[in-house]
Amino acid sequence: MSEYHEAIIIGGGPAGLTAGLYLMRAGINALLLEKVLPGGTPLNTGRVENYPGFPEGVSGRELMDKFAAHAKAFGLPVKDFAEVESLSREEDHFIIKTSDGLYESMGIIVATGTEPKKMGIPGETEFIGRGVSYCATCDGMFFKNLDVAVIGGGDAAIEEGLLLANIARKVYIIHRRDTLRAQKILQDRAFKNNKIEFLWNKKPIEIVGKNQVENIVVEDTQTQVKSSINVSGVFLYIGSVPNTGFLGRLAEVDEGGFIVTDEELATKTKGLFIAGDVRKKTLRQIATAVGDGALAAVNLEKYILGEKP
Ligand code: NAP
Repeated sequence: MSEYHEAIIIGGGPAGLTAGLYLMRAGINALLLEKVLPGGTPLNTGRVENYPGFPEGVSGRELMDKFAAHAKAFGLPVKDFAEVESLSREEDHFIIKTSDGLYESMGIIVATGTEPKKMGIPGETEFIGRGVSYCATCDGMFFKNLDVAVIGGGDAAIEEGLLLANIARKVYIIHRRDTLRAQKILQDRAFKNNKIEFLWNKKPIEIVGKNQVENIVVEDTQTQVKSSINVSGVFLYIGSVPNTGFLGRLAEVDEGGFIVTDEELATKTKGLFIAGDVRKKTLRQIATAVGDGALAAVNLEKYILGEKP
């Protein structure tokens, strides 16, 4: 037995929830399938400062609770803890196999976002939950008045390094180059923060400890000299990988696994649209995910109504 909806959205982050809101307002019978609970990546962000309408900033959780409440206020049904295992197309409809059962739909919006990239160095997996973390917002409080390391030089590393500086005694930001790729405003704040020390041109090679993390070993990328830094926590922010394991060959992906779309967010498979961070794009922000969600929903609506081939 399967459950049929005209449109199924896979993923309940900013893109998916926006798509749901737009589809409900268009009178489409839609369903959102969410692996865990709605909210997506912003749930791991302490304070969102670049989403318009919140001049004082807003916590990632509060913002996403509002997104979910808004979509639900227009009737969007959300199926929590429904992880999509496979997606296939048969004749004129899609079949979605999930951990919660079988679904069918005329159209699909994939908005499954990304998950943190792993470094693959010794000690990383071993010490997850014992000092290694990919979420300062979730785990930062365990490191009150301790020394921690943050790996990476992008927005996430600097933003979360700043958050950790409010909790930890000292934050080492370890970056493999000597310039950051994070937004200028975040860089300026980090450079001014006297709890943050930058270790430039260093790549982590091992995380060491007994029961908990005790040290991180780094190698200078220019001199190859190795050194060890005493830390109780290591927060890794070296980028993200898209969640597309269920997609099969329904869409093209780039070298990083991000799904390639045209300007209408369509793929080579009719009725399959992509929105948010999982898509090949140049800027991954809540603001751009929202734009994607709206556009994918409007184009899927046209497809369902037969206005688009
Ligand atoms: P990112 O922008 O891809 O940055 C990853 C960082 O990790 C880079 O500095 C990179 O170094 C470094 N890195 C990558 N692989 C490494 C390795 N093997 N060893 C050591 N360092 C490594 O990733 P992100 O910061 O997670 O952000 C992901 C996306 O979300 C971005 O588009 C970002 O703008 C967005 N985001 C936005 C906000 C915001 O607007 N407030 C917050 C968080 C994330 P190189 O610089 O040398 O490549």
